[in-house]
Amino acid sequence: MKKKLLVFIDALPYDHKYLFEKVISDWNLDLRPLKPGYGYSSNQHNLLLRGLLPDEADFFTDYTVISKNSFSRYLKHTNWFTYLFRKIQSKFGVNRANIPLGMGHMFKKIGIYPLSSKIMLDSLTNDFHHWEFYADKDAFEHLKTAWITSNTMLVFNHVDHLGHYKGVDSKEYKSSVQKLFDEIDKYVKKNDVELLLFSDHGMSLKPSKVRLVLEETFGKQSNSGYKYFIDSTTLKVWVNDNRLKTKIMHYLKERVEGSVLDEIEREAYGIINNDFGDIIFVLGNDYYFEPHYFGFGIKSKTLGMHGNSPHDIGQWGVWAGDHELGECNDARYFFKDILSKFIK
Ligand SMILES: [Zn+2]
Repeated sequence: MKKKLLVFIDALPYDHKYLFEKVISDWNLDLRPLKPGYGYSSNQHNLLLRGLLPDEADFFTDYTVISKNSFSRYLKHTNWFTYLFRKIQSKFGVNRANIPLGMGHMFKKIGIYPLSSKIMLDSLTNDFHHWEFYADKDAFEHLKTAWITSNTMLVFNHVDHLGHYKGVDSKEYKSSVQKLFDEIDKYVKKNDVELLLFSDHGMSLKPSKVRLVLEETFGKQSNSGYKYFIDSTTLKVWVNDNRLKTKIMHYLKERVEGSVLDEIEREAYGIINNDFGDIIFVLGNDYYFEPHYFGFGIKSKTLGMHGNSPHDIGQWGVWAGDHELGECNDARYFFKDILSKFIK
């Protein structure tokens, strides 16, 4: 029986399929778009590899609020002192991202990355226990030097980094995608494998910076009022006071850069849990938040982003596999309809 090769490429956009569609058709595989869910790679990976929407994975984006904790005075995330302090702190091994000083204990990192290592993957699912697993340098090394001896998963993250920092229209990005496909191509020609390739999302190109500091409109965050966590594309607000909730909601709905997820949308994408925010606001493809709680720098250079609304085609990833695997263009069904059939 043929060995199976599962290739995962972080941030391979459907929008830029011209870079690799020829190779995929040479392999006799079908290339299809894959519309992601909401959230960053952590949520996408749990959706694609385990079939778990945020409600089932029990997290949405990488940080959540700890409601039972309280805080008093704090410095906003836009304050330079917050930024410098957090930066120095991280050098000493304490990573609180760029969370407002005084609110560090209010948020907890809960995002799970199944592809961070084989140990992590195996701790979350039994599906790949007998698979070999190589990521990044090791994956390249495997392509170049090894033969396939058992079912193998290869994970590549560098395309994502180039998309963020060089842009999907850059020489570096294009040539690295093409080089990666060249290497896979050589390997596929050398080894007789059954191949499934997939990515988690796309990547925008030169999105515009959106500055959103809720304190400027609604005053300081407080235990009895509102609290929020903002990262690159997603804002989560927790509000105790209903009148304030209506006001914030109204304000966000007026913003053209993104949308507040309504109940229907939250249900469809499995983000019902109120711990994920009483209000969730997500930017469209052409925007990203800065500054935010993850960090802001003096020379920040963001030329691409993901985690935006999945309804924008720029955010779509891809998958390529044998046509007999069936059809699927939505990450919510990918695990059940495609991946679980492939790995069986
Ligand atoms: Zn990324």
